[in-house]
Parts: sequence; C-alpha cells; structure tokens
Amino acid sequence: MQQPANANFVANTYSRFPLTFEKGQGARLWDKEGREYIDFTSGIAVCNLGHCHPQVVQAIKKQAETLIHTSNLYWIEEQLRLAKRLAEHSFADQAFFCNSGAESVEAAIKLARKRGHELRGPNCYDIVCLEGAFHGRTLAAITATGQPQYQRGFEPLVPGFTHIPPNDIYAAELAIGRRTAAVIVEPIQGEGGVRPLSDDFLSALRTFCDKQNAILIFDEVQVGMGRTGSLFAYEQTPVVPDVICLAKALGNGVPIGAMLAKQEVMKHFGPGSHASTFGGNPLSCAAANAVLDVMLASDFFEHVKAMADYLRAGLEKFSANRPGKVAEIRGRGLIQAVEFVEPLPDLALKFMEKGFLVLLGHEKILRLLPPLIISQEEIKAFLEALEELA
Ligand SMILES: *Cc1c(COP(=O)(O)O)cnc(C)c1O
Repeated sequence: MQQPANANFVANTYSRFPLTFEKGQGARLWDKEGREYIDFTSGIAVCNLGHCHPQVVQAIKKQAETLIHTSNLYWIEEQLRLAKRLAEHSFADQAFFCNSGAESVEAAIKLARKRGHELRGPNCYDIVCLEGAFHGRTLAAITATGQPQYQRGFEPLVPGFTHIPPNDIYAAELAIGRRTAAVIVEPIQGEGGVRPLSDDFLSALRTFCDKQNAILIFDEVQVGMGRTGSLFAYEQTPVVPDVICLAKALGNGVPIGAMLAKQEVMKHFGPGSHASTFGGNPLSCAAANAVLDVMLASDFFEHVKAMADYLRAGLEKFSANRPGKVAEIRGRGLIQAVEFVEPLPDLALKFMEKGFLVLLGHEKILRLLPPLIISQEEIKAFLEALEELA
C-alpha cells in the first residue's frame, strides 16, 4: 500500500490504514480526496461528541486566546471548575489530572500502593488485575494489562501484579488478600473485545476489597464519559468503586486524563507525592468543561439510549438472519461488538472502501464505538453496509 511522503520519519509502531483525514464534523470525516466516511471508532472512543463539536471548538479557541499553560504550582480556574463538576456528578470527591489513560492508571496504581503502605505496611502492594484487560502502554500499565502480546520483549515487568480470569469469583476470593492494595478492572473490557463483567463478579470484588481494606479501581478510560448511556459506566453496575480512571473522551480530542477518588483515599497523595507538568492545564480543562456542558444537558443521554437501542436491535437482527455466522453480540450503550465465528481479516478494509470506519480485533471482533451524537440515519447506513459486507 502506498505510504504518504515523510512516513519514514515517524516511528513504525502502528500498522496504519492508507488514509489521511483532512477534516471532521459530527460523525463524519473527509479524506484529502474529499471522500466522506462515517466514523464508528470516534478516534478510539475519544470524540464521543463527534468531530469538532462547536461547543468544544469555541471553548478551546477562547481559552487559547486567554491562557494556555501555567503549571500546577499555581491554581488553575478551569481545573478547579472541572474537578468540582466531576465530583458533583460522581461518587468521588477529588481529581488528579494527567494527560492520558495510561497516566491515569499509573496514578491509580501509585495511589493504591501509597495507601497500602501507609495503612497496612510495606508488604501491601499487590495489584489484582484481569486476564484480557487493557490499561495502556507504560510499564506498570502493560503489567496490569492481562495480555502477553503487549508485554513481550519489555521484561522485566513491574513486580507485584496478580492476574485472574474475568468473572471468576472463586479466583478473586483466593487472589485478594492481606497484600492486596487494589483490584483494577474495566467494567466492560474494551480493547479485549467488549466483554462486560457480570454484576455478581463486580459485587464480589466489592465485598472482597472491603473485607481486606483494598481499593477497587474502575478503569473507565474507554467506557466512561457517556459511552454506556450514563456519564460513568459504574452507574450501570451494582457497585461503586473507590477510584475511577478517565481519559479518552474527557477532552473530546484534547489530551487530558483524570483519576477520581474519595477524599479518604486521595488523602494518601500529599504534596510532592505525584505530579504532572501538563496535567489539568487551562486548555485541556476548558475542553473537558465544554464536554460536560454538552453531556449534562437534560436530553443528552436520551439520545444515547435511543441510538444504542437502535444499533443493538439492528445487530441482533443481522445475527438472527445469519445462523452460525455470529458467535455473540455484546456491549452496553454505544460500545457494542459483533464477534464472528470465523475470522474476517479484511472486514475493516472493506468497510473503509464503503465509507465506514470500524475497529476489528483478533480478526473477528467488530468493535463499534460511534460518536454519541450519531444519527439514526447514520446507524441505518452502517447496518446496511454490514448486511452487504459480512
Ligand atoms: C485506551 C485505554 C487506556 C490507555 O489510554 P492512553 O490514553 O492510550 O494511554 C487505558 N485503559 C483503557 C481501558 C483504555 O481503553
């Protein structure tokens, strides 16, 4: 496939589609030749409000003309406002700001260990994680990530991590003990193939964590910020975690991450214990505040739920019409997956040629993450393409 000019100057860490976009609006993107695409990836769960949402654009413009960066040695108005609003709309009391998902996971792991050491001594450091998880690409995050393909070649990994199979309550009971500082899970495993954890398993994790005085961390980097039909994914589960990690859609494309916790937990991060130069800077917080302005408007989640029901019904119908072809339809809200029985390695490319962007994992899991503002017509067009291509 043809490479663009200057491709050799960029590290070769991605296998990329032969495509360069020039502009975006709502659920649509246009390439340099003016071809239009409907985006069922949202830039991997980032542009939940669609591309170039006018309120986000306006907020960034205004902030860029006023103040872009100071440092966290000074108070930042937009950061204070964002922290307060995140607290008001979640179980949490306080926020630590960073720039990415991996950094928010890293912050949560460090907080859990600091708390473990301070409350229960130096042997309380273990982080219990799930097989098939994805938590990002820093060394601690790939260690927490329960998939060898992200770890191979980077050993030695960070010590003090234990992996158990998802939805295995007995394994969780055995693994969570006196040395456990935290359990970290994605309420729905995203990268791993859109695998929701069962309510029973989450409730059991909550019970075991409480019994051992360990904290329960939800990595909502992919499924937070409205994706499942409520602002946070934990709201649709029977449990309340102690910490949540956010990033991806928090700034709708402007890099920002956040780790939210109750004050009782966050108090273990004192002055000097953790930091980030860019974390919570005025520009990224202005973008995130604009995202909240849109999502907290009264009818926003009505639309998400209606579109989710429409998409899900369409996928179920597709599956029912093709006995033996589809192994499972999974997901919640506007994170949905179709797992095919047989690999369809060219499916994403075929969709691209028809003007749709999709994610395909393990060659047979079609992961759908449309912008939450997508229209019924756009979903209908996608379902018609699916009928044709798969
Ligand atoms: C994408 C993702 C991350 C990593 O986020 P980055 O911003 O790429 O560091 C962490 N956890 C989950 C669940 C993710 O989906």
